[in-house]
Amino acid sequence: MEPTPFNPLIQKYVNLAFHGMRAGKEAINVDIDLQLDENITEVPLVAEDFSRVILNLCGNAFDAMREKVLQNSEANVNGYTPKLSVRTKLEGDKITFEIEDNGPGIATEIKNKILQPFFTTKKGTQGTGLGLSITNDIIKAHGGELNVETEEGNGSVFVFSLPAARIKN
Ligand code: ADP
Ligand code: MG
Repeated sequence: MEPTPFNPLIQKYVNLAFHGMRAGKEAINVDIDLQLDENITEVPLVAEDFSRVILNLCGNAFDAMREKVLQNSEANVNGYTPKLSVRTKLEGDKITFEIEDNGPGIATEIKNKILQPFFTTKKGTQGTGLGLSITNDIIKAHGGELNVETEEGNGSVFVFSLPAARIKN
């Protein structure tokens, strides 16, 4: 692991995920809100692995919100704007990362399955069901744990904490 400037890495991969989405599946407009705690400097990371955490979590959020956009347009419901909020916070000797979407949320019956390898609700070849399982493994290898809070119909928040390397005074 290398001490790595954390916020710039987050910014870079959230942007990459967004542009990747626009180039790939049907693009949606997303209001992206980054709230990155400027007190965070470096976090010990394997950047190549950790980047997949951000790409996977963003990709899932975009997929979920795209689903809601499609459902709403079929039902002729207007006024939904997809919103992604990404927050970093320095809390003591830990950094906390939160990614929140206002997509469809996750049903209670499947919430305890989403971290399992090959669990997917996506049709055809759209989902492998490996994203969150790999994401969770990578977070664990960095000393953290992935948690999710979700409200069906209203969205999801994925959260994890990691040990911070240094604190700016
Ligand atoms: P995949 O994206 O290939 O389906 P993942 O392991 O990344 O596999 O996710 C597993 C499942 O968890 C998804 O199919 C979806 O049902 C659910 N999920 C993950 N992230 C979200 C999210 N932000 N909102 C709603 N459901 C989600
Ligand atoms: Mg995924």
